[in-house]
Amino acid sequence: MKFYTAGRDAMAKLGLEITPEMERVEPTYPVYLNDYYLGLIDPADWRNDPIARQSLPDPQELADLSSSYDPLAEEEQMPTPHLIHRFVDRVVLLATGRCAMRCRFCFRKRAWTSGMELADLSDEQLAGAVGYLTAHPAVKEVLISGGDPLMLPFGRLKAIVDAVAAVPSIQVIRIGSRMPVVWPERVTAEIAEYFGSIPGLWFATHFNHPREVTPEAAAACGRLVRAGVPVVNQSVLLKGVNDDAELLEELFRKLVAIRVKPHYLFHVDPVRGVRHFATGVEKGLQILRAFRPRLSSLAVPTFAIDLPEGGGKVALQPEYGKDGEYSDIFEQKRIKYETGL
Ligand code: SF4
Repeated sequence: MKFYTAGRDAMAKLGLEITPEMERVEPTYPVYLNDYYLGLIDPADWRNDPIARQSLPDPQELADLSSSYDPLAEEEQMPTPHLIHRFVDRVVLLATGRCAMRCRFCFRKRAWTSGMELADLSDEQLAGAVGYLTAHPAVKEVLISGGDPLMLPFGRLKAIVDAVAAVPSIQVIRIGSRMPVVWPERVTAEIAEYFGSIPGLWFATHFNHPREVTPEAAAACGRLVRAGVPVVNQSVLLKGVNDDAELLEELFRKLVAIRVKPHYLFHVDPVRGVRHFATGVEKGLQILRAFRPRLSSLAVPTFAIDLPEGGGKVALQPEYGKDGEYSDIFEQKRIKYETGL
């Protein structure tokens, strides 16, 4: 796989010329993308292309200088390096800062920033994390994230997962990885079979647009599913990329068809450098409302915001009524619902 570390080279591969405004973004937010994802861009309409908007630098990234790089206060919730402990029963373990692509909307964009880069988890840090988990048996679930843990060599990935799985109180391991979307071949049969051999292991990926559900991406998810690994998807609602009910309906139908459960649809976090992707919460509620009469609950994700200051994820639902009277899902009439209590 060929990787591009300069927007100029990536654009040239598409037969396009980069603009000076785009190049000015790169010292702050560098470019990193690969041939596979680049190949999904439509060069003829690249300025409006939803794949390009997720991967090519945009001058709007520099417009916001007042927002925090870490509004979720992750750095303050690390009892030991690389381990975020926000909720009673689960933690996040940051295995690496590397990804197969730098997604322009990434809420951990601070890890790309000079002086805040996240290195690979060292042996000493892994031992520290395992020690913490062992001392806190109330933690039952570990999300191994980053960056993208599948950037690590298989042996290192296996060493981390094995070490976490060996903690007696850990019941569930979730691998957070965008590889099926951005580098499907990296989800090798060897990795899929290994994940399938770990009891309680789930795989959470990140499709945002139906055009990302390519035969290659479907095959990557298929390898995981056939190996016995449940696969869920977490999308972000992105202005100009996927903020449209019909488009998201197509995405979620495609995912269910390849046995990937749409799990979350997140509103963009108020992170510096990504706020131009925000749609407003009301847009997400409108989309959810449009799904009600059209889309099976299997295909409908939970719409959520992740509150600043470590407040946690809050699921949001459109209002259908109260006090025993509710709108039908087609919103054509009000219907009484007596609980008998
Ligand atoms: S793959 Fe995930 S962690 Fe990496 S840049 Fe994209 S959104 Fe951020």
